Amino acid sequence: MSDTNTESESAADPGALRTPIVAVLGHVDHGKTTLLDRIRGSAVQEGEAGAITQHIGATAVPLETISDMAGSLVDPTDFDLPGLLFIDTPGHHSFSTLRSRGGALADIAVLVVDVNDGFQPQTEEAIDILKRTGTPFVVAANKVDTTPGWNPQEGEPIQRSLEKQSDRAENRLNENLYELIGDLSGKGFSADFYWRVQDFQSNIGVVPVSAMTGEGIPDLLTVLMGLSQRYMKAEMAVDVAGPGVGTVLEVKDERGFGATLDVVLYDGVVREGDTIVVGGRDDPIVTEVRALLQPRPNAEIRTEKRFERVDEVRAAAGVKIAAPDLDEAMSGAPVRVVRGDDVDAVKAEVRKELARIEVDTAEDGVVVKADTLGSLEAMANALEEAEVPILRAEVGDVAPRDVTVAQTANEEHHRVILGFNVDVLADAEEALERTGVRLFDDDVIYQLVEEYEEYVEELERAQQ
Ligand code: GDP
Repeated sequence: MSDTNTESESAADPGALRTPIVAVLGHVDHGKTTLLDRIRGSAVQEGEAGAITQHIGATAVPLETISDMAGSLVDPTDFDLPGLLFIDTPGHHSFSTLRSRGGALADIAVLVVDVNDGFQPQTEEAIDILKRTGTPFVVAANKVDTTPGWNPQEGEPIQRSLEKQSDRAENRLNENLYELIGDLSGKGFSADFYWRVQDFQSNIGVVPVSAMTGEGIPDLLTVLMGLSQRYMKAEMAVDVAGPGVGTVLEVKDERGFGATLDVVLYDGVVREGDTIVVGGRDDPIVTEVRALLQPRPNAEIRTEKRFERVDEVRAAAGVKIAAPDLDEAMSGAPVRVVRGDDVDAVKAEVRKELARIEVDTAEDGVVVKADTLGSLEAMANALEEAEVPILRAEVGDVAPRDVTVAQTANEEHHRVILGFNVDVLADAEEALERTGVRLFDDDVIYQLVEEYEEYVEELERAQQ
């Protein structure tokens, strides 16, 4: 809850828990995207009316859908949670760079591990990040359908199939699962098959799934509900009816609306006509919500009316916000609704949030561009460690004015732009060629820093 907006709503339910926000992490090719598609697809099939085919950064799966899918696994009356909200961009980059006020935007996580491939470098990285941020998670042991000897009965719960086959010496799946549980223990976690886990916060539940066939997906959703229920109750002090607070995922031009924000609202309510404050490139932007848009159920991707207008949105949810003056808004920046006339106080809060991720700049140095505020901060930290000064650091694609700024650097090795996970605008390409400013771009931070260091060494050698 914001300190400055204390107006409470009559509809407020003090015990209400908001939808937990779920991130999907794991090694490349282990099936993160397929899993998200499967969850989205199942939600569409099962939910019909509430189905979602378009998405704005996050997919909501309502409790009714989960309980329809899970059958006897889930008794909806056991849960106070409205469902689960999955962030659609998988991977630990988005996990660690998308922030909410207190830390990671996601409340809980699914770590996807290919059950035949086991722990891989990015699995280890993901675990380290989850540990550092104290994020509760479950393991989806994916691709069970590809394990030799795995032969489940149609319609039979995965647990029964596994237990039946557990005696068979040739059961590779059980072997692989035990290996996975062992690897998790090696990382200091107590882990087990999910059906043996009582407390998912102190034990990591391992759920065998196939993102391809859909086996185990209801089980996974059920376990996530169980984990969130405890966690959200214990950890989340949420004001579901207070002024909306969210994080900008993307700033997108939308025909008829101009620049719009794809936002994950993680707290409170936003309504059409609300005054909002959004983190911008210069001062926070103060504007008024012209329209709140959500994906139209079952809309064809290419039809014009992809979105429908809604009057209000409650956390947690993905929403597209249309409002004037959003061009300078930044991915990763906070969005806050102003109730009452406390604009200045809310502006101050947004400034404070932005200051936390402010980058120290020097008189001379390199220009840094990154896709979100969080990744900009990560870049700045890496450069500080490598003792590379920064002349200017901004969120956004490489634009001609970045080239102009880089050109003003005194030292040749500083006439450089480092772009992390960004595109280069056409005019900027041309400016780079004309000025000789060097651009390094990559989507791995340490590689980007290494490329730059090698370039500096090369220049030094050439000068000797
Ligand atoms: P990501 O890099 O983690 O997002 O992985 P993807 O979701 O792109 O999956 C990588 C490859 O594995 C794709 O070819 C998928 O079709 C395949 N795949 C993902 N999950 C499964 C699964 O459960 N079973 C099988 N057989 N293939 C899968």
